[in-house]
Amino acid sequence: MKQSQMLIPTLKENPTDAEIQSHQLLVRAGYIRQIASGIYSFLPIGRRVLNKVENVVREEMEKIGAHEMMMPALEPSELWKETGRWNTFGSELMRLHDRHNREFALGATHEEVITSLVRHEVKSYKQLPLTVFQIQNKFRDEARPRFGLLRGREFLMKDAYSFNESYESLDETYQKMFDAYSNVFRRLGLNFRAVIADSGAMGGKDTHEFMVLSEVGEDVIAYSDTSRYAANIEMAPVVTTYEKSTEAPREIEKVATPDQKTMKDVAEFLGHDLEQGLKSILFQVDEEFVLVSTRGDHEVNDVKLKNLFDADIVELASEEDTKKVMGTGFGSIGPVGVSEDVKVVADLAVEAMVNVSCGANEEGFHFTNVTPGRDFEVHEYADLRFIEEGDPSPDGEGIIKFARGIEVGHVFKLGEFYSERMNATFLNDQGKAKTMIMGSYGIGVSRTLAAIVEQYHDDRGITWPANIAPYQVHLLSLNPKKEEQKELADQLYDTLLESGIDVLYDDRKERAGVKFADSDLFGIPVRITVGKRAGEGIVEVKERATGEQSELQRDEIVSYVK
Ligand code: ATP
Ligand code: MG
Ligand code: MG
Ligand code: MG
Repeated sequence: MKQSQMLIPTLKENPTDAEIQSHQLLVRAGYIRQIASGIYSFLPIGRRVLNKVENVVREEMEKIGAHEMMMPALEPSELWKETGRWNTFGSELMRLHDRHNREFALGATHEEVITSLVRHEVKSYKQLPLTVFQIQNKFRDEARPRFGLLRGREFLMKDAYSFNESYESLDETYQKMFDAYSNVFRRLGLNFRAVIADSGAMGGKDTHEFMVLSEVGEDVIAYSDTSRYAANIEMAPVVTTYEKSTEAPREIEKVATPDQKTMKDVAEFLGHDLEQGLKSILFQVDEEFVLVSTRGDHEVNDVKLKNLFDADIVELASEEDTKKVMGTGFGSIGPVGVSEDVKVVADLAVEAMVNVSCGANEEGFHFTNVTPGRDFEVHEYADLRFIEEGDPSPDGEGIIKFARGIEVGHVFKLGEFYSERMNATFLNDQGKAKTMIMGSYGIGVSRTLAAIVEQYHDDRGITWPANIAPYQVHLLSLNPKKEEQKELADQLYDTLLESGIDVLYDDRKERAGVKFADSDLFGIPVRITVGKRAGEGIVEVKERATGEQSELQRDEIVSYVK
């Protein structure tokens, strides 16, 4: 490509709103431009890098037998209502109406869409396991879009979904995905860790995040140098495993009165702010218990609750029901050894609130009426919020260290959460209808691109790993007005292209200083400068990352680059 004809607007100064290196450099070097908060255009060289990251992801997905497809970005609200996420997803979901006043969401994720497709098209165990993926823009109305591509409101994601006939089969798919993710991030040259994302109720193996180690990461991970242990502090367990004891919870701290008609009332009465993350209240109705909880990341919490109480946690059927019980739009309710019927449980809970005593937990599962270790047998206890650097790691095999991380990937065993609600079943080899077992797997492709820049830059610009760089060679003709320089540079350009080498050719009539500065900003691995010694057929070659310089004859160039 000839630079004189390309749109690569470079900037001398950092954009004022850009706080971190990847944001500053990608804008300054002409890779991206912001169009609105958290929304970016990829300019031609940005698109090239994005393609390369995408392709690494695509290749590793295809290697494990996942097939690429493409789902619509517009998702009808009906599907989201089937799973209850129309209510629970909250304001991150971008919602809109069509001309007939039908509601839609802009795809934040595609579990509902894929499940609705698969329930119609897959009928038999013979068609399973099945894994599909897509690479597509996602929309999330983030509360704080920031750090350029790291937290956008429209961003590129690879999302994959698997359907299996059993949990054992899901385990196999999950492991393949886990390995594929490790390959992706290794091939991208990233320093990363796979961490336990939530080992709370899930035994520490059912969801992992892939974290690129970086000071600008928004997550904190606890890891051990000498063992494989690593977990996200945010999601890390307060309690890793509980087993239900036979004894009923005792010691009720506060007793609600008939005035407390909703969860919100009760929470207020107990002095808890419902908006601040997960809150659960356990109600006692005669001998049985009903758990009502507000939820942040509801899939995670549902599984937590499910394991904790060995109960089916179901969402309230309608927004109306939810409001009735919770006093807010969001929430779930679970019978603990009670009925599976949502309505019955909702009624029970409402009744429970006005008739019986209750207690609440604060953050996570610290029950003020239930004490772990007494009412529930505690199997493994690791509250990472209280762990300090230098402590033994929970696996007992290392010493805890902390690091900041950027979440670039997330693999998740969903189980039956979606398939059950959306009735995605198949006939097993006995001809019996079974619920499909699902997994979902995301990679933030555009976020990963930025994470690469966080790890590959110096004070002059980006230093791309060779396989991701927009071009392999940056060819500069220092003074194209001099005939011999222009001629040699033109010839080299043709030769490189003919040899299948991607080359960006700075043929602009600019000062040498400008060309060098831009070249350093772009971060293309090899720079070839045609200058004073063009007459002798000699050019200067410089490695961007190391600064290593040499002079080469024109006919040595191709073999040097290859
Ligand atoms: P975060 O905790 O950073 O908000 P998430 O857990 O909400 O991310 P997932 O639902 O797990 O994200 O989505 C899969 C992947 O998509 C994430 O691992 C991340 O790499 C990427 N991603 C999520 N949100 C954004 C965003 N706002 N901008 C860019 N990439 C994102
Ligand atoms: Mg998020
Ligand atoms: Mg996350
Ligand atoms: Mg995640």
